[in-house]
Amino acid sequence: MHSKPLRAVTIAVGIVALLPVLAVGPLLDYHARSDAQAMVQARTDDLARRIKAGADAALATLDSVLVRAPALCSPSFVAAAQAAVEGAGLVRAIVVSEATGAPVCQDAATPPDLTELAPPLAIPGRSEQVAVVSGGVAGTSMLKFTKPFGSRLVAAYAPLLFSDGDELAAALPEGAAGRIALTNGVVVVTSAAWDSLSATAAEPVLSAASISGELPFRISALLPLSALAAESRFAHVTISVLVLLLSIALAALAIGVVRRTRLPAFELERAIRAGEIRPYYQPVVNLVTGRVSGCEVLCRWERRDGTVVSPSAFIDYAETTGLAIPMTLSLMKQVREDLGELCVEQPELTVSINLFDKHFSDSRVLDDVRSIFGGSRIGFNQLVFEITERHPLDRITEAHGVIAGLHKLGARVAMDDTGTGHSNLAYLQTLGVDVLKIDRIFIDMILPGTTAVPVLDGLIRMARDLNTDVVAEGVETEEQLHYLRARGVTDAQGYLFAPALRAEAYCRLVRALNGARGQKLAFSSSDSPDAPAAISAA
Ligand code: MN
Repeated sequence: MHSKPLRAVTIAVGIVALLPVLAVGPLLDYHARSDAQAMVQARTDDLARRIKAGADAALATLDSVLVRAPALCSPSFVAAAQAAVEGAGLVRAIVVSEATGAPVCQDAATPPDLTELAPPLAIPGRSEQVAVVSGGVAGTSMLKFTKPFGSRLVAAYAPLLFSDGDELAAALPEGAAGRIALTNGVVVVTSAAWDSLSATAAEPVLSAASISGELPFRISALLPLSALAAESRFAHVTISVLVLLLSIALAALAIGVVRRTRLPAFELERAIRAGEIRPYYQPVVNLVTGRVSGCEVLCRWERRDGTVVSPSAFIDYAETTGLAIPMTLSLMKQVREDLGELCVEQPELTVSINLFDKHFSDSRVLDDVRSIFGGSRIGFNQLVFEITERHPLDRITEAHGVIAGLHKLGARVAMDDTGTGHSNLAYLQTLGVDVLKIDRIFIDMILPGTTAVPVLDGLIRMARDLNTDVVAEGVETEEQLHYLRARGVTDAQGYLFAPALRAEAYCRLVRALNGARGQKLAFSSSDSPDAPAAISAA
């Protein structure tokens, strides 16, 4: 069984160690996407470059014809045009027309009968214009570059580098769709998948676009992410598995380190299991008879190295972490062994055990008390369970149930630290406590020569009104002893009598003081023949 903190830290370490596994997917996706994005953009840029190169070649061919034969429509011009069209260049036709558009002459090979799809666009930095035309012999789209020359216009027709969608798609990454358009929006060519990819909002795509230099062409590409996922799935799975294995190894290592670490939580948990939290017994002395009427069980942490840790160093911690419950359980079992014999010898002796807020939130403590002390040598009627008044009980109904259950067993209930909390008479009365333990801060108010401590006197009166017993805590001086006895307080604990003692010392003390009935004790104070002696820690 592990404590809450250890469990919590273990779970936290496990979660942190597995975080990389969760991060692998998004990271790989991100990586694959940015890779693919860069690749699509590079292909698109390449297309734009090739289109520009083709256009530049066509324009250069036209220029070379005009340089060789500047007399338009002269036989040498026609021959030069003819040679250019039939040559290896990209130009398929050369046509000379008037500024009005009326044809004047053309090369002999191709009589183009082509219509412009849209008004021509200027090419920035150049005198030529470019238009997309359709029709002609092959029925395919062509580019028409028109150059003003003298008073006339000379046009060169060049095929598109990618005259159909399939060619365009083949130039792009697999699964991608492409489109070439003029910057005025006229579409020149698209690949088959373009419409479905650009229309479906559901299909996430990567997109890229590029302009072909100063030419008014815009090349666009779309790549669906699904094409990408298929590509990277294997890498994805492989890397995920590797990271998972690594994470598990790291988590195991980290949890091992955490468990070996001597953090207070784990140390305390271990100490409880190892029985290092030992009960110490502070005698409660009857101020009238001088006998020991019982004890309060306090705890000390006896480390293996022999050092003793006082409860103030770990009690709050034990309470907030829930370790107070197993700690109390361990203490009660040890009390049963330590005091069993003594409690049989001294049936009047009481054993007061501190409980915590958490004990009062459900009835498990009743089962524990029943199973530990039922049939033991310590009678339920010898047991007193202390509730602290310092913090109010948050589950008052459950607390009532626990108190009623303790009463039913025959045990009694004491209010600890009375006067320091926020409770009032009504609260104390409804809780049904049998004993009020008056906190030491009120006892400390009794100084030499003090004749009245109104708050303390009020608490004593209140106890009387409630018909509860009173135990004064932290009695350290004889003045305090006399003051309390004068006000009818019969039981007290404190250094004046004894500190918390180990079991053997406590039992020895009880036997010494209570053993011989009627034996008068020597008093340290000469004016109080009935008062008990100051007892030194045996
Ligand atoms: Mn107490």
